[in-house]
Order: sequence, then C-alpha cells, then structure tokens
Amino acid sequence: MPTLEQPKSESKPRNKPRIVIKVGSSLLANVKNLTPSFAFMHGLLSDIANLRDQGYEVVLTSSGSVALGLNTIGSTIENASVQDKQAAAACGQPILMHAYKQIALEYGFDIAQVLVTLDDLENRRRFLNVKNTVHRLIKQGVMPIVNENDTVTTEEIRVGDNDRLAAKVAQMIGAEQLFILTCIDGVYDRDPSEEGAIFVDSIEDVSSYMEAASGTSSLGTGGMLTKLQAANMAQNAGCTTIIARGTMEAPVTGVLNGDRKHTKCIAHSSPSSAWNIWLTDRLQMAGSLVIKQEVADALFGGDDGFYCHDVVSIHGNFERADVLHVYDEKGEEVARGLCNFSSDETAIISSRPDETVKTILGYTASQRLINSENLVVLGDHHLSWDEPIQSE
Ligand code: GLU
Repeated sequence: MPTLEQPKSESKPRNKPRIVIKVGSSLLANVKNLTPSFAFMHGLLSDIANLRDQGYEVVLTSSGSVALGLNTIGSTIENASVQDKQAAAACGQPILMHAYKQIALEYGFDIAQVLVTLDDLENRRRFLNVKNTVHRLIKQGVMPIVNENDTVTTEEIRVGDNDRLAAKVAQMIGAEQLFILTCIDGVYDRDPSEEGAIFVDSIEDVSSYMEAASGTSSLGTGGMLTKLQAANMAQNAGCTTIIARGTMEAPVTGVLNGDRKHTKCIAHSSPSSAWNIWLTDRLQMAGSLVIKQEVADALFGGDDGFYCHDVVSIHGNFERADVLHVYDEKGEEVARGLCNFSSDETAIISSRPDETVKTILGYTASQRLINSENLVVLGDHHLSWDEPIQSE
C-alpha cells in the first residue's frame, strides 16, 4: 500500500485583494419577529458592491437560515429542538438567499449559494471540490455565499458556528482579510459589561483574550470565543481578521477607511503552507495519540515523524489517513498529523515492537506511524482548543 504523499503547493500569485465577510444571524434577522433585516442587507450589499468596484474579490459567509425559518415551522429560538432547527434551516435558507439575490441584483452583481458540511472541509478530496467551485464562481464575478448545510448535519458532525466556517473559507481561498461583523465593536480585555473594560484595537496573540471571551449571542451559535478561534485559524493562514460592528452603513469600507472602531487580529508574518494549515487548523479531530516524552521532545529538535512503538496510548476510533492530535506524556499537545494506520492497526503494531509492519499487516507499508511531511509540530502560533477524544 503506498505511503500518503504531501500534495503539491496549490497557491498561485494573485493581484486582487480577496476578502471574506462573515455576518451573523443577529444582524440578518430581526430578533422579535424573525424576518430578514432588509435594511442591514441593503447596507451590506451596497458596501460589497463598492468593494467589488475597487477590485476586491468578496466571499460572504452568512448565517441566518435557522433564525429565518423558525416561524415557518412554528418554533422559537428558546424551544427549538435539533430537528426543529434542521427543518427551520431548510425553510430559512431560501428566504435568506432570495433576499440576497434580489438585493445584489439591484447593486449590479449576482450571487450563488454554497452549502457545506464539516466533512466537505475536513475530507481532503471534498475540500478541494468546494475550493474549485468557489474559485470558479469568483472567476465568473459571482459572489459565493457560504453557509453550513444545517438541514443534514447533527450536533456531532457539524462545524456549529459560522465564525470558524468563515475562517476555513478564508484559508481555502487564500484571503488577505476576514471581516467578522457582529453586534459589538470588537474585543474587550474582559466582559464589556464589567466596569473598566478596555477596548482592544490590535491583537497578535489571541490566547490572552480567550478567557474574557465567553458567552454567546441570542440568535447565533458563536460568541467572542469562536470569533477569536476563527481569528487564530486565519492568522495561521496569513490572513488578518477584523472584528467589527455590523453597522447599517458601510460595515466594511467604514473600517477599511479608518472611520470605525474595530479589533484587528494580525496575520502571522510567516503563515503555514496550505498543507500544514489543512492538517492543523481542523474543526474536528478523529482521535489522539500520546507518545513517549523523549520522542515528543525530539520532535521539537527536528526529528522526522515517529513509529508505532513510540506510542504510549491511543484514543478514539480512527481510520487510515485521519488527522490526529499528538500529546506528550505531560498532556501537552505537541503536534498534529495524518496517520498511516487505523487505530486498530496502530494498536496491533505497537503491541508487537519486534516485528515489521509487513509481517504484522501482510503488506508493505511505511514503518512510521506519521510521516514527517504529514506531521506539523505545534508552535506558539496554534491554539489547541479542542480536547483529545478519550477512549471509551
Ligand atoms: N448556520 C447557522 C444558520 O444559518 C448559523 C451558525 C452560526 O450562528 O454561527 O442559522
């Protein structure tokens, strides 16, 4: 069986600035009657038309399908079950797109709907399919509007919030800037309702603000926490994130012109390669490995990959080519990588350290559990927000 290869670089030089704008449900739906907020949508699309005239290529990530569909299925934000939300998304998504389409045409451009699931982002082949489609639309001058396909996803298999979805989209298209438009001016050093809360203009390291960023919005699913996680993903991809209030007038150009308060999460100066980003900044991991302390330490010294007999414990049921967390024996996440074997195979091979993989599995395979080209040693750049999957 062949070893899993690292794909060739996908990036090409480009001269038009590319920007992803994320708008949340609280901006798009009137909280009281759960109908589209046409005034906001007009302001947004008129601003996008300005950006397009200036040469920007814009992709929109829009929430709102669940909120706008609740009336149709006779449910409310407070009492909607998972099934109600899935049905509401089916009703609300066409309402949302209809509104976008009509308004965009008024401003002289066309839009397209791109609905994705977690799997479309985490499975390499499907990721590339989505990417190609989005690029084709951009080339045509049609603005893609991306949302999660909430109708077919349940809690365990969904991205969950459109902040991180938007960051994934920004990574996917190599955007320079990600705008997260929300109901607040930006990030504060503590809960903004606390006395003395100080506004933060610029952030290099989002981890210092994670604790202050708890709480969620009433209509959407994200809060400031998911916005900072999204900003970190974007930073790693060399994309600057701007968190700003979604005003009715010039929500984006107002910030670009320097007229409005906002928080800027600055892109890391040496962004990871597209492959490393895809490996590390994932929304869900299939499992995790704990490896011997000395092997983990050696990874920082540039050691290339490790073997099954370096594994101390295996967590989760994963398949060959799944991406895993790698922990040292102290519980620190040291790396993420794409595994050459399934969890069952890993367990068998690591229990028989004196035999070759070929003898155990009956076919020639890499001796390494994770190859160096498929392993990313985590620096300070990455947040490790998701917990390891525990074995049952
Ligand atoms: N995909 C959800 C929707 O369209 C929104 C997720 C979020 O609030 O971030 O309603």
